[in-house]
Amino acid sequence: MVRVERISHWIAGVEFTGAGARGGPVFNPATGEQTAEVLFADAADIDAAVDVAEEAAVSWSETSLARRTELLFKMRALLDERSGEIARLITRDHGKVLADAIGEVARGLENVDFACGIASHLAGRYSEQASSALDVYSFRQPLGVVAGITPFNFPAMVPLWMCANAIACGNAFILKPSEKDPHAPMHIAALLAEAGIPDGVFNVINGDKTAVDHLLEHPAIRAVSFVGSTPVARNVYQEAARTGKRVQALGGAKNHLVVLPDADIDQAADAAVSAAFGSAGERCMAISVVVAVGASPEPLIGGIAKRLFELRIGNGLDPDSEMGPLITDEHRHRVASYLESASAQGAHVVVDGREHPLAKGPGFFLGASLIDEVTPEMDCYRDEIFGPILSVVHAADLDEAIGLLNASPWGNGAAIFTRDGRAARRFQHEVQVGMVGVNVPIPVPVGYFSFGGWKQSLFGDMHIYGLDGIHFYTRPKVVTSRWPAPAAGGLDFRFPKHE
Ligand code: NAD
Repeated sequence: MVRVERISHWIAGVEFTGAGARGGPVFNPATGEQTAEVLFADAADIDAAVDVAEEAAVSWSETSLARRTELLFKMRALLDERSGEIARLITRDHGKVLADAIGEVARGLENVDFACGIASHLAGRYSEQASSALDVYSFRQPLGVVAGITPFNFPAMVPLWMCANAIACGNAFILKPSEKDPHAPMHIAALLAEAGIPDGVFNVINGDKTAVDHLLEHPAIRAVSFVGSTPVARNVYQEAARTGKRVQALGGAKNHLVVLPDADIDQAADAAVSAAFGSAGERCMAISVVVAVGASPEPLIGGIAKRLFELRIGNGLDPDSEMGPLITDEHRHRVASYLESASAQGAHVVVDGREHPLAKGPGFFLGASLIDEVTPEMDCYRDEIFGPILSVVHAADLDEAIGLLNASPWGNGAAIFTRDGRAARRFQHEVQVGMVGVNVPIPVPVGYFSFGGWKQSLFGDMHIYGLDGIHFYTRPKVVTSRWPAPAAGGLDFRFPKHE
């Protein structure tokens, strides 16, 4: 029998095996081999992590902004220096090509960059002489212990979206990463310890629904950030609210790229293929639908199909590969089933990824697929496929295209390709999504803005990262202050009125 590596948890600055008796397999999706077994935390393991985090949060919140900033800069430098190691772990567990994994770490680091400015982000407001000899000022304080639950498709970036700000604000953070690719988050935990982040301030609990359910129930956890699929996001939002926690829950997506007839068709085809098939379509900001506007969409569809036949698919560690495998064999079969249903429901499969030679191999590969003549009632349009399949829907004009997008229950991102500024301006104004791209197919905002969708793509009030993140992980306190002269005073039963 081949012995596989065992991955445990990370609590109080060290690996922690815990009491949980269950675990799950971690695969190398490029070969189909199991490379590790990850332990699944039980309630006692979570309790242990929360106890440690509660204690760490007390001293960490008292640590000066100067010291916290110094440690964040060290964390940033170390993550940057070792980004190649993190990226290789991502590729090994997830399958995405190495250049993409390097990009993921870089985008995650943007959030640490932002968090390094914590002293300025947390600066309060002060109104002197708001009333006679009375000052009013406000500042924000950390919550205590906060938790992050993250998806498989960005095992480094999404944890960094959350933990950089959470820690910078003075909280202790418990990460429950995806059980499908735990190597990168565990490595990040070790690097944060090496950078000097105090033990217990950043902890990792591996596991599945059992771990999530217990995190949601635990009274000491004050806030939960979740990123994953819509059904789980909705449930996390409801449960966290029921137990009185602050919650932001980002869900799935179905992002449309609208191509107007005046667009540069080669640029639009390049953008559609890059944004739909990068990371094998396993991105919440992947383009999964092209809306071809106008009477002559053939050059666009032909241009996309031509590029798909030339796409180099292979192991993500091979520098020649442009697209890697899917995360699991089960997911590959689920994704492929949409080609079957699309044909049965009357769409035209222009390029069929099941015919790619690697699609039958032991690795979890599926070739890139293009489906034309898709309509909104088809399964391939309604569901989030999360794989290398691009659907094409036709629209007569911009009105129809915007109407189609706004009727969708998803609202993460949308993009338009055009040379008409007025059309683009109208699109950005009217489209009901949280992030818009104008001649940019994957409009993931920079770290000092914020990230989040509308409708079923986000449950909660605030976006994640940027100043929204600072507000999410802190609560405001407002002080009304007067220092009266010794002789002043006297009873006054009127409601205080400022004069
Ligand atoms: P997922 O919902 O299956 O899992 C996300 C997390 O929840 C994981 O940590 C997992 O262990 C846990 N989980 C899974 N099932 C659960 C359950 N029944 N109860 C409690 N916890 C559960 O998502 P995934 O497959 O890992 O990731 C892909 C999904 O994430 C896609 O839908 C994608 O669009 C979405 N996503 C969204 C964003 C965004 O910013 N909106 C970003 C990345 C990924």
